[in-house]
Amino acid sequence: MKLLLHTCCAPCSVYCIDTLREEGIEPIVYWYNPNIHPYMEYKSRRDCLKEYTKSIGIEAIFEEEYGLDDFCKNVVGDLQNRCKNYCYRVRLEQAAKYAKDNGYDAFSTTLLVSIYQNHDAIIEIANEMAEKYGVEFLYRDFRVGFREGQAKARELGLYMQKYCGCVFSEEMSKSAHQKKDKEESARANRDTERRIRLSDTIPNLDFRPLKRENKEEIDFIYNIKKEKYKEENKKELDKEIQNKLLERYIKENAKNIKVIMLKKEKIGFFDGKILEDDTFRIDNIFLLKEYQNKGIETAISNEILFENEKLVKSK
Ligand code: SF4
Repeated sequence: MKLLLHTCCAPCSVYCIDTLREEGIEPIVYWYNPNIHPYMEYKSRRDCLKEYTKSIGIEAIFEEEYGLDDFCKNVVGDLQNRCKNYCYRVRLEQAAKYAKDNGYDAFSTTLLVSIYQNHDAIIEIANEMAEKYGVEFLYRDFRVGFREGQAKARELGLYMQKYCGCVFSEEMSKSAHQKKDKEESARANRDTERRIRLSDTIPNLDFRPLKRENKEEIDFIYNIKKEKYKEENKKELDKEIQNKLLERYIKENAKNIKVIMLKKEKIGFFDGKILEDDTFRIDNIFLLKEYQNKGIETAISNEILFENEKLVKSK
């Protein structure tokens, strides 16, 4: 089968070409993407595809059209639906037309590999173009190999773009990154604030999540709990029962256990629950004997409650 494979970029082409070749189809890569802006981005993606196709010995046709003006004029009236109403359409129409004019049996597109594109709209438009130009549209759900293809592309050192293609998608991607950065920095600030406030009352008091993979740390938790059982029951529990209880405790609570540190020494831990409103409620505070009744429990309970609205004490 003589197949024209519309190709949006080298990373997306990796899995599509590999699978088609496995099927015994040797596609001809067809670059036509006037939706990629600005020009340096267009050039980077195009040049990467040129190099990649050369390196794997596949035929490639490059239809040059850097179309910022036309693209903007055509999508500006309805930015929301720009992908479906213009971007897919213009590229798939050109691919179908080229396939028909140049004696191909079928056309397809690497857009079908992306888990971020509107897959159904691509199929719908490709079928429409197949009918319009009288050439078969070869459909494959390449999405199953999206991650595999991207991983291979990364390994090969291909140019990996950070946004879909048009200036509007770049804007969206920037805003999403800025939002994430903002959230991360707010979280970091909250953590710093928490440490500062805790240290106001008891210098060098801090806490951090339990390192579950660390045996020594798990043993530390076990030992404190054992002491607690002994204290409450006035005797040691049967070893087997005790171990079972401890194992279950760690399994059920590990996610919500925080180790309490004083001058970088582990002195105890507390556990709790994340509630529906995303707050954390402390249920129990356990300290090594020598640190009990020195105001540390109160400092932790009160200051966590006081300094961070997201952390609340149990009733
Ligand atoms: S987001 Fe991607 S698919 Fe949609 S219009 Fe922009 S370049 Fe085209």
